Amino acid sequence: MGGVVIVSGLPGVGKTTVVDLAINMLREEGIRVGLVNYGTVMLEAALDMGLVSHRDEMRRLKVSQQLQLQREAAKKISELSNKYDILLVDTHLFISTPRGKWPGLSINNLDFLNVAQIVVVEADPNEILKRRMSDTSRYRDVADEESLRMDIEYNRMLAATLSIYTSCPVAYIQNHEGRAEDAAKELYKILSRLVVDIGYK
Ligand code: ATP
Ligand code: AMP
Ligand code: MG
Repeated sequence: MGGVVIVSGLPGVGKTTVVDLAINMLREEGIRVGLVNYGTVMLEAALDMGLVSHRDEMRRLKVSQQLQLQREAAKKISELSNKYDILLVDTHLFISTPRGKWPGLSINNLDFLNVAQIVVVEADPNEILKRRMSDTSRYRDVADEESLRMDIEYNRMLAATLSIYTSCPVAYIQNHEGRAEDAAKELYKILSRLVVDIGYK
């Protein structure tokens, strides 16, 4: 089973933008690296079941339904990881549900995933706010700087907890305004070290 890299960060921080840039750099090195968006795997099942019409509706479903989708997605991602040396998983450490913050990775799905590295993408609260407001491709939650500051802290606590549970390091990557390429290079560096560490190169 290939090593799973959890790429996390608050909604709108730029995870998908940064991993999309980094993956090409890794593939040029001849590393068998895969990329999957956890939400997309859940969405395929949710659409089939007629539960939602778009990805931003899933976090409003009953938590019991989200749990089921989350678990099924973990099994699919686990199978996918067999095809690669490393598999990047673009996901969230918590989901803002109507009942509160709910873990993106917990005993419900972690045991299916061979986690090798945790990455947290960060930006300043005002940068995240601006990105959420200017991104018309998504239905984003309303927030203010203070609540985002708290969310960044909560995300760090979850990353630390996950680090203990998996024995994996946590790398923090800053994705500042107009600097997605730099953030992708930083991610590339960390993943290159991981590949050396686990012996694929
Ligand atoms: P989600 O968790 O909701 O999927 P995300 O973390 O994947 O969000 P993206 O969709 O990658 O975030 O980015 C959100 C918006 O911010 C997009 O419009 C993207 O183009 C923009 N963006 C990403 N990184 C930067 C950056 N460094 N500077 C300016 N804009 C950025
Ligand atoms: P994203 O495109 O990364 O924002 O993901 C879309 C949606 O998928 C999120 O808003 C969540 O509803 C769901 N999602 C993503 N990752 C997870 C996860 N690990 N556990 C539960 N739900 C998730
Ligand atoms: Mg994304």
